[in-house]
Amino acid sequence: MDSRAASGGMARRTFLTASLSGIAAVALSSCTWPPPEPTPTRAATPSPIPGVPKPTAMERSRWADDPFARGAFSFDAVGSTPELREALGEPVSDRLVFAGEACSTDAPGTLQGARDSGLRAAAHVMRPGSPGERVAVIGAGVAGLTAARELLDAGYEVIVLEARDRIGGRVDTVEDPSGDGTAEFGAMFIGDDAGLELALTAAGVDVRPTPDSTLVRTLDGTAVEPSDAGWQAIAAAQAWAQGSSEDVSLATALATSGVLPLPDEPAADGTTPADWLRHSLASGVEPATGALPTTVSAQRFDAARAEASVAFVTGALSDWLTSLAEPLEVVLSSAVVRIAYDDERVGLRFDSGESLSADRAVVTVPLGVLQTDTIAFEPALPLLHQRAVATLGMGVVDTVRMRFDEAFWRSPAPATARPGDEPAEPPVFLSTVGGVPAVGLWIDVGVASGTGEPVLVGLIAAEQARRLEQVSDREFREAVLPGLAPFATAAG
Ligand SMILES: Cc1cc2nc3c(=O)[nH]c(=O)nc-3n(C[C@H](O)[C@H](O)[C@H](O)COP(=O)(O)OP(=O)(O)OC[C@H]3O[C@@H](n4cnc5c(N)ncnc54)[C@H](O)[C@@H]3O)c2cc1C
Repeated sequence: MDSRAASGGMARRTFLTASLSGIAAVALSSCTWPPPEPTPTRAATPSPIPGVPKPTAMERSRWADDPFARGAFSFDAVGSTPELREALGEPVSDRLVFAGEACSTDAPGTLQGARDSGLRAAAHVMRPGSPGERVAVIGAGVAGLTAARELLDAGYEVIVLEARDRIGGRVDTVEDPSGDGTAEFGAMFIGDDAGLELALTAAGVDVRPTPDSTLVRTLDGTAVEPSDAGWQAIAAAQAWAQGSSEDVSLATALATSGVLPLPDEPAADGTTPADWLRHSLASGVEPATGALPTTVSAQRFDAARAEASVAFVTGALSDWLTSLAEPLEVVLSSAVVRIAYDDERVGLRFDSGESLSADRAVVTVPLGVLQTDTIAFEPALPLLHQRAVATLGMGVVDTVRMRFDEAFWRSPAPATARPGDEPAEPPVFLSTVGGVPAVGLWIDVGVASGTGEPVLVGLIAAEQARRLEQVSDREFREAVLPGLAPFATAAG
């Protein structure tokens, strides 16, 4: 069995998985691109949903709507290159340095990438700078606090300026309103990075290895052995695209490379290769990017990165950020609206009208914010920086956390178990094949954390996430809960 297909682009990127949009589903079933417009609502089955109880508590994120994020993380849109990410992190006039996950070439879109970029930015400041200089760090997320701590420890006078009334940025740890511990509404898994793990351990943040255990069910609740037909089709389309001088979207590559149409002959379990392509897009490509296949670069999408091993953060990620921030001067609720720079100084203006001057500045606001006109740069940024901001994509992934009276979805044995196998614990990841649910992947938090609590986190990506951010909680539940029906009426 292909673990990537089994896990749906699992491992490190599992956390990012969300549903395949109606757009892609329609397109792939008809094997044509571009697809027709999506229908406005996609509740798969009418409410009330057979066997699916109402959650006793529900909380959700709205990252696209968040003015200080404008999305979840960056992705390689058509035309993106690692050189553009690299260029974004290059100093401007030796006075301004950009950092943040979007500047990472090795691990964009992750905690690791954000941390690495913060370390790199601090090194960029220190090269021309001298201890004692005043450095303004804009943004108190992972990148900003990492850079600020490096600079403080090296003897710089550092001030961190944060628009929100809290630190952490896209690390959003809250007291679990319906339970005992804490809940993460941003990052919740870590990849295979010793530096990050050490940093978390030093801050007392525990992680727990995540078994690559996924249960895939068809819409009627039958557990099925995942097929790698979808990933094979994507790999073939990418190979075709990589042979061309001009980048295209994954959707275009699939449509024009000759990969489609996939055979429509159902296997013994009733699934077809086209079903598995939908599944791979929904649980691999969209979660890894927060974007539709129509915008993702066919040359750059990195399926291999989706396979790195993961650990689930069982502690509170905010403890790490708090420990980083402890000795720092952090000014909250101060949104920077203007950054003026020359060869000598950097001047900042805030939304309050106040201003501040520093020798140098590290700018860590998310790519999504840079893509708006929230912050005016004077003079305008160099063309390469502008090109990077315009070309890289900002994806959207939202989380919904639902607590139930009991874990009705928990299955005694994953589909991947062979006869006679006794799995140690139930699967962490749940997904369906053959349908278009709003949530492409559910994470059983009770299993991932080892607490056993009846809590699921669902991940919603791309246009689906943007749309559902705008609806009421009742409409949201109606759109999302039908996706759990196969786990409530499970067969096998
Ligand atoms: C739903 C979701 C799930 C994720 N899951 C994972 C995961 O499991 N594992 C993983 O490794 N990564 C995950 N990520 C990605 C990870 O959270 C980010 O890559 C990382 O936190 C980004 O850190 P950063 O410092 O680059 O940016 P941020 O954390 O966004 O920090 C930037 C800061 O700048 C501030 N700011 C914005 N505008 C202004 C302004 N005008 N003035 C002053 N301050 C401003 C923001 O408020 C913010 O605090 C996830 C992200 C999301 C949203």
